[in-house]
Amino acid sequence: MKLNICHLYPDVLNLYGDTGNILCLQKRLSWRGIDCEVTKLPIGKNDDFSRFDLFFIGGGQDFEQEVLLRDLHSGKAREILSAVNDEKVFLCICGGYQMMGQYYKLQSGRQLDFIGAINMHTEGSESRLIGNYMFRCGEENGGSLVVGFENHSGKTYLDEGVSPLGQVLSGYGNNGEDGGEGVRHKNVFGSYCHGPMLPKNPEFADLLLQTALSRRYPEVLLPPLNDALEVSAHDYMAKRLG
Ligand code: GLN
Repeated sequence: MKLNICHLYPDVLNLYGDTGNILCLQKRLSWRGIDCEVTKLPIGKNDDFSRFDLFFIGGGQDFEQEVLLRDLHSGKAREILSAVNDEKVFLCICGGYQMMGQYYKLQSGRQLDFIGAINMHTEGSESRLIGNYMFRCGEENGGSLVVGFENHSGKTYLDEGVSPLGQVLSGYGNNGEDGGEGVRHKNVFGSYCHGPMLPKNPEFADLLLQTALSRRYPEVLLPPLNDALEVSAHDYMAKRLG
């Protein structure tokens, strides 16, 4: 059994230990005897997207989000869109999450046109939405409690027919206004959660892995792991924020 993971733009979207999410996915698979190959696709590199099961995109500053635009629109945006429509699994964090939407209107007024895989958009604001935060995923997204760290000045608004990943319990989430955090669209999971997100939220990590595995091996169920350490780190933060 094997999963193919694609790490998109590791060269420019890599804030706050986001790459730790990839290490976490690799480890949680290897502890269960499941093979995993990670392919990095930086600016200028392409591949056959149909062979990947799970995609990861991390966060970045406005500057880096702009730097990758030319590469994005010379092929990758189209490939990403068709992988999304194929119900492949995506974890997209912060800048990578914003990139799945229609556009990011910077505070300067300039607009970065993104992939448009999800009906949502982001607007730059004067304030910075920063700090440790916590949210609960919706029932349809596993219902787990997620702890992490957010730092963005972009405020994301989900448009008609698009649902958040969860509801904020402490902190800001998508825009600090409507209580929503992240997005779930097909098998795309978008979130503002840096940290990295997955090591201290093992239940959420397994939701991604199970969803990706089920596409390729419909009969396979992930066996549980001993997550005592991960759960104690998670619960410590949840208590601090609670
Ligand atoms: N540059 C974006 C913003 O400030 C995303 C930041 C991030 O990925 N942490 O909203």
